[in-house]
Amino acid sequence: MKNFDVIIIGAGSGGCLAAKTVAEAGFEVCMIDRKKEQDIGNKVCGDAIGKHHFDNIGLAHPSGEELEQKIDGIKIYSPDMETVVTVKGEGVHGYLVNRQLFGQRLLKDAKDAGATLTDSTVVTEPIMKDGYVFGVLAKDLKTGEKIEISAQVVVDASGHSAVLRKKLPPEFGIETEVKNEDVEVCYREIREVKEPIADPGFCRIYLELKRVPGGYYWIFPKSSTTVNVGLGVAMTEGFPNPKDLYNEVILSMPFFKGSRALTGGGGLVPTRRPISPMVGNGVIIIGDAACQVNPIHGGGIGSSMMGGVKAGEVIIKALEKGDVSREALWPYTGIFMELYGAKQAGLDIFRMLLQRLTNKEMNYGMAHHLITDEDLLKTSMGKDLKLNITEKTSRLLKGLGSLSLLKKLNATRKLMKRIKTLYRNYPSSPEGLGEWQEKVNLVVEKAKKM
Ligand SMILES: Cc1cc2nc3c(=O)[nH]c(=O)nc-3n(C[C@H](O)[C@H](O)[C@H](O)COP(=O)(O)OP(=O)(O)OC[C@H]3O[C@@H](n4cnc5c(N)ncnc54)[C@H](O)[C@@H]3O)c2cc1C
Repeated sequence: MKNFDVIIIGAGSGGCLAAKTVAEAGFEVCMIDRKKEQDIGNKVCGDAIGKHHFDNIGLAHPSGEELEQKIDGIKIYSPDMETVVTVKGEGVHGYLVNRQLFGQRLLKDAKDAGATLTDSTVVTEPIMKDGYVFGVLAKDLKTGEKIEISAQVVVDASGHSAVLRKKLPPEFGIETEVKNEDVEVCYREIREVKEPIADPGFCRIYLELKRVPGGYYWIFPKSSTTVNVGLGVAMTEGFPNPKDLYNEVILSMPFFKGSRALTGGGGLVPTRRPISPMVGNGVIIIGDAACQVNPIHGGGIGSSMMGGVKAGEVIIKALEKGDVSREALWPYTGIFMELYGAKQAGLDIFRMLLQRLTNKEMNYGMAHHLITDEDLLKTSMGKDLKLNITEKTSRLLKGLGSLSLLKKLNATRKLMKRIKTLYRNYPSSPEGLGEWQEKVNLVVEKAKKM
């Protein structure tokens, strides 16, 4: 059996950053990916990444062919298209990247740091020994041969498939299952359009709660004549087929007349608060496998990279101490919650409200700026939700019979604040987990009942 210090399942954005971080400290790292090496990074995605993610982890910003379009802001359209909220500013500056070239760069960085890649190999399950994850069982897709690889720590960075997380023993206390209602099922194409795009520096998000339930559709410019365009719907019972919806709702837009698809495909993204805890004996879960995605817009490249770096740092300390127990790896979840998870938890509550609104309520809320454009930006960056409720809007809401919207917004604001405080104070040891989880469940149940 081959043996390494650390195995990373999945050489996506999270896995590559974890691998690079640990390998740079001189440990032996094996990345395993089911894709062929040259296909790594090629993923159905919106391809948009905020600039701040690169600054936060000290990663070089995209350039050359990897950079397809600089983004200055986002335009959000109300269901009736009457209101356009434009969110601009440092917090939303970003890039549309060539996803494959970007992924290949991350892979090269990890390999240059000393990590090994075993490609075209699918991990099927963990190997357990004495209550610890001791390695993985995998299958070489080229030869069909079964392989066993052992390591002191295994990182599940396998994206939404979360191959290891789903098979961990119950005594680890890790949430092995994510509910379908917390997952978005998406269809996306890269399209060439006939007319040059007006304002290519702006990503466009369209809210349509009736036809695109629990999700939204997007048009992100990749050049003056190519766009990344797609939609996602919540995977609730009887959800509509996203490709059918795409043809019906998006391709009927005049903008797409005479356009042609260059490529297309489907994908899944978890849009909820992160799982807790993210560690067990000899194992850490990161990226989509740990639900480290922004619950509102579904962006998870930046947070998976940060999640990978922080996992790497905790693993290095554990390996140096010679202790890879759940207790030794415990700080990881708290570090992640402090840096990003608390914001996600707040936005998860906000998502629950948004997914339950009607088009009428959304049109009204946006037309009357119940949340100002500036406050929307701040909320998306993790600040507390601020409502712009004046005496006039209260009176209007009353007149429209929409007073319940005001009540729901107020209740959401309070629940968002409460859950963020809980996530910022994640238990410092496994002992506090039960009580913490109970408090979180109460907030989530309340939000779901609204
Ligand atoms: C349609 C869509 C649009 C999106 N748009 C955006 C966006 O615009 N911006 C943004 O930031 N995020 C976006 N996301 C989310 C983003 O793609 C993910 O959050 C991000 O890629 C997560 O990184 P990761 O490393 O956790 O997983 P991934 O990037 O998914 O990498 C997982 C890797 O694990 C490998 N793997 C999986 N299972 C196994 C196995 N059993 N054995 C071996 N290898 C395995 C895969 O081949 C893959 O290389 C979008 C997602 C979807 C589906």
